[in-house]
Order: sequence, then C-alpha cells, then structure tokens
Amino acid sequence: MSLVSDLIAVLGRDRVLDDRLDSWTYGKDAGVFRGEADVVVLPESTEEVAEIVRVAERHSTSIVPRGAGTGLAGGAVPVDRNVIVSMIRMNEITDVDPENRTAWVGPGVVNLDLSRHTEVHGLHFAPDPSSQSACTIGGNVGNNSGGPHCLAEGTTVNHVLAVEVVLAGGEVVTVGGGAPDPIGLDLRGILVGSEGTLGIVTKVLVKLTPNAPDVRTLLCAFDSVEDAARAVSGIIAAGVVPAALELMDQRMTEAVENWLKAGLPTDAAAILLAEVSGGTAAVKAEAAVIREVATSSGASSVSLAADEAERQILWKARKSAFGAVAQTAPDYYLHDTTVPRTRLVEAMTEAYAIGDKYDLVMMNVFHAGDGNLHPLMTFDASQPGSFERVRAAADEIVEMCVSKGGVLSGEHGIGKEKRDLMGLMFDAPALDAQARIKEAFDPGGLFNPHKILPQGSRCFDFGRTVPVPDGAWI
Ligand SMILES: Cc1cc2nc3c(=O)[nH]c(=O)nc-3n(C[C@H](O)[C@H](O)[C@H](O)COP(=O)(O)OP(=O)(O)OC[C@H]3O[C@@H](n4cnc5c(N)ncnc54)[C@H](O)[C@@H]3O)c2cc1C
Repeated sequence: MSLVSDLIAVLGRDRVLDDRLDSWTYGKDAGVFRGEADVVVLPESTEEVAEIVRVAERHSTSIVPRGAGTGLAGGAVPVDRNVIVSMIRMNEITDVDPENRTAWVGPGVVNLDLSRHTEVHGLHFAPDPSSQSACTIGGNVGNNSGGPHCLAEGTTVNHVLAVEVVLAGGEVVTVGGGAPDPIGLDLRGILVGSEGTLGIVTKVLVKLTPNAPDVRTLLCAFDSVEDAARAVSGIIAAGVVPAALELMDQRMTEAVENWLKAGLPTDAAAILLAEVSGGTAAVKAEAAVIREVATSSGASSVSLAADEAERQILWKARKSAFGAVAQTAPDYYLHDTTVPRTRLVEAMTEAYAIGDKYDLVMMNVFHAGDGNLHPLMTFDASQPGSFERVRAAADEIVEMCVSKGGVLSGEHGIGKEKRDLMGLMFDAPALDAQARIKEAFDPGGLFNPHKILPQGSRCFDFGRTVPVPDGAWI
C-alpha cells in the first residue's frame, strides 16, 4: 500500500490531506522559508500519532511536527518531502489542579486559550509570546518560547513539568513529573526546545502561575534609542526585575500607530514599556524606581497606564507590532538574537549601521530586559536580490551579537534559518555531543531532518573523523 493509503487506514480520508494546495499551504511557517509537504495528517490521539510514526518509518518518510505554524525560523517547514503532523486537533485541557497549580494540556491548545481557561482559578500560563492568540503549547515547547513576561518568569522550559512524547518506533514515554525536583536524567529539559527533532509531544504537564494582585504599566518616551537601552540596564542594575521591559523604536511605533491608533508618542525616538506586578506596596515602589531611572537616563516623558483598559491598549500595541508592519511593505524578515544586557546600547547602534550598509529599512521592537533583539527588515521579495541583501544583513547582525557574548536565538529557535550559523557558537565536539543525543532518540533520522544541527555535526567517532552522508538526519 502507498504511504497515503496507509495513513488513511489509520485516520480516515478526512484527516489526511494530500492535494497540491494542502502541500503548499503547510509548506511554510510565519518566517521566510518555504518547502512542500508530501502529505499532511491531523491526529486526534496519542495512539494515532504513534501509528503515524510507524507508518512513516515503514515508508522511510520523515516527519515534521507542526503546531500553528507561527514559528519564524522554519522549524515547521518541510525540507524533504515529509509527512507534516499537525497537532492542532489535540487541544484538550484536562486535570486542572488549582491547588498544585498544574494542568495536563494537549499540544494543540492555543497559548492564550490556556490562560483564559484557568483564569477562573486566578492562574495563567506565564510564557506569553506576542503570537499567543495563535501559537500552540506544542510549538511553545518545541521552541522553548519566551514572551514579554518571561523576563521575570523565565521561558517555557521553566513552566513545563512533564512531557508525553512519541518516539521512534511509535514508543510512548512520559518524561519529568509533578514533583518539583524529579530524579534521573533531565530528558524533559532536552525535549523542551528540541524543535520537533527528537519526537512528537502529545501531552504537556504545565505549571500555572498565580495572577498578580496588582499590576502597573509605565510608558517611557526617549529622544534616542541609546538612552532607552541605557535605561533598561539601569532599571535592572537598580535592583528591579520588572515583569516586562519592552523597547520599540520610532519606525515601529509609527507603523503601530498608523494601524491601531493606540496613542503612542510617534515623536519619540524610542519607547519603553515597563510593567511591574505583585503586592501593591512593592509594585508602587518598583514603579517609582523605574520612573526615576528612566528620567535620569534622559526620558522625555514617563506615564502610568491610568486603568486596566489603557494597560490593555498598550499591550495590544506591543503584541500587534509585527502584524502592523504588513501595511508598510510586502515582506519582512524578523530576526532574533541576543546580547548581554550591558552591551545593548552598542549592539543597537551597530545593528542600525548594518541595516544602513545594506540599504534596508530596519525597525525594532524587542524584549529589551533579556537583551533579546528583534531587528525587523522590510523588503519586497519580487525585487531580485532583495532577500539576499536581507539575509546577508541578518547574518552580520548575528555574528556581531555573538561576538559580544550573545547567542544565536533568544526564543525563535534555530530551525532551518540558523542551522548553518551554529558553528559560531559551538565547536566540533560540542556539535557532536548534541548530534549523539539526536542519534540516541532518533537513530533513523525520522523527526524533522535538516533542522538545528548543521551538516557534518556528527564528526567524531571515538576520536576518528567520519564523513557524514548527504541528506542524513543532520
Ligand atoms: C507575530 C509573531 C510574534 C511572535 N512573538 C514571539 C514571542 O514573543 N516569543 C517567542 O518565543 N516567539 C514568538 N513568535 C514565534 C512563534 O510564535 C513561537 O515560536 C511559537 O511558540 C510557535 O508555536 P506554533 O504552534 O506556531 O509552532 P510551529 O511554528 O508550528 O512549530 C514550531 C516548532 O515546534 C515544533 N513542534 C510543534 N508542535 C510540536 C509537537 N507537538 N511536538 C514536537 N515538536 C513540535 C515544530 O516542528 C517546529 O520546529 C512570534 C511569531 C509571530 C508570527
């Protein structure tokens, strides 16, 4: 029987998509890369996922797990002609345990829906990517995603206690557990952030965070990006770790205002959105420190959101920023890299200089408190050479950030986008160690091939250098 017939035998005709349009539609995420899937399947249970894995193995076809496809690094983009396993129908939330602040969650649950579901218990899921109204918990686990409020709370890995995963051979295992300090090797830690290269996550035990009793959001305007970046380091050096600390430059502010009319100051060179949360006395004191540091760093104005409605508008503006850019240009490339917070000022200056060198329009809106830059470059893909210029600028920005002690990606993952840049951070033995982990989980190279690890990662074999065949799992 053919691959498609075998999959239909497992799932029925309706949940196996194999026409050209489906292959094309599922051939992309929210980033700039495109592939084409062989077939797309929509499982509804762990047993079905296990059976899909067995079918794919029988037909020597690799698998790409997929959530909502909002990833920006090409993680869910097929490179060979793969089976795309879309997890969106596995979207049940069960066993909400308000006392222990946990819940079991299907990988297809949309991030924001989880927090809405647990709101009745005064709890939420802390990682809040700006894409949270669309992205899934499975994708958050795949990419170890962050978000504006991960500065104080940590990224997804800090909020996942256990993961049920389907491995090669269709074997189902659960790693981690409810205990705060589980014993044994931390396989949960390895799976979170593995971008679908080790197995398919079918269930997640998440940690829920209590909603803060009081929250205040400040909007600080600056006459230069450098002053705003200096205020970021100053606030944390003053002993305050805000719940969120987000920076938006003037071009981005204009793009958002043109669309949302949120009342942002478009005459400012940069704005800083700072949020503090907790008990009222602490929140008041921290807001006062932020006001003081922002002012002494050169802020031209500092205002406090007057009420919850105003606060929500500010966050809508921040979280809609990338969408707003769609009005300014046909295409954009959103980049993700980090520098130590103390080097934010110089990194920002150099990033803009790189944009100028390649004659690109660059905008910035980013998680400044984490030193997580998101230079966004607009372009028109129909213009020959324009994408190549953007890629060249992007690679130069990554190299600059890594040379300052930063890392390749703050949250979007490596995927297809940055796999060939891994050598900037990892030497051959370090890449080999990671490749051995991949091999232990996935000896046949079934899961999401050609992602994360560059060709040639598996270069040592007890001290011998062994060539890696083309098209292998790395
Ligand atoms: C406008 C916009 C704003 C964004 N803001 C942020 C942000 O603030 N912070 C941030 O971190 N990211 C952000 N992102 C990137 C993206 O939304 C996140 O990476 C998100 O977690 C991806 O989730 P998804 O469901 O769309 O996953 P997908 O894009 O479908 O997949 C992402 C990766 O996870 C793997 N995967 C998916 N499901 C599973 C599974 N069940 N088992 C194993 N592997 C799986 C895929 O193979 C792929 O490698 C943003 C994207 C957009 C478009």
